[in-house]
Amino acid sequence: MAASLITVPAFASAKDGVRHFFGTRQQMPVTYDTGVPAKTTAARAHAWMLSVKQVHGNDALVVDRPVTETDRFNGGWDALITDQPGVAVVVRTADCVPVLVYDRRRKAVAAIHAGWRGALAGIVSKTIERMAARFSIDVADLRVSIGPSAGPCCYEVDQAVLEPLRHGRQDWPALLHDDQGSKARLDLKALVRRQAAETGIPHEQITVVNVCTICHPSLFFSYRREGRVNGTMLNGIALVSRR
Ligand SMILES: [Zn+2]
Repeated sequence: MAASLITVPAFASAKDGVRHFFGTRQQMPVTYDTGVPAKTTAARAHAWMLSVKQVHGNDALVVDRPVTETDRFNGGWDALITDQPGVAVVVRTADCVPVLVYDRRRKAVAAIHAGWRGALAGIVSKTIERMAARFSIDVADLRVSIGPSAGPCCYEVDQAVLEPLRHGRQDWPALLHDDQGSKARLDLKALVRRQAAETGIPHEQITVVNVCTICHPSLFFSYRREGRVNGTMLNGIALVSRR
């Protein structure tokens, strides 16, 4: 199982009291229902895993009290924030960008699911600002890790994406490769990275796993490559339980 999960050493380590992972298609199968806390041993020592229905929106769920197996989180959210040790907040991706956020001083974590729609709707900045406000965090303390997703090598988009991108971002030319007007390849990870930096997080505290889910069939599920949802990668982060 050595290659089944991807971690970022520079981002966080066990001595910081946090564990995180970006999943692959070889990760251990986990049984869970969206919106229902599940007991898990994924990435070691997590008491609970929580993944919710994702709707490509820009709303974040804040979990600020202990979870139990009778809890139900029945809305749709594309980000989860918690200050509760032992709760792994998890987002599912298969080309979209998984973003993990950690504050070592105030002890809070967040997991964000950012496709083009959510990214343009502000899911990244909104989640970071919400996390900072709720837990009295200085954004300059935050560390961000951006995980495997569809890369600019493969991720061709059309007017449905290009039009809102060009209206929403003055820097849109820097985010496109091989721009032919009505279609181009989008660097979604670069967009997410810029959005994280724009909240005030220092560049050196933002790590990017520069791997493309479309390019690597043996490692990742890809909605774009496979044309349907064959599976999704789980990406999560948890504060280590102090018990
Ligand atoms: Zn690629």
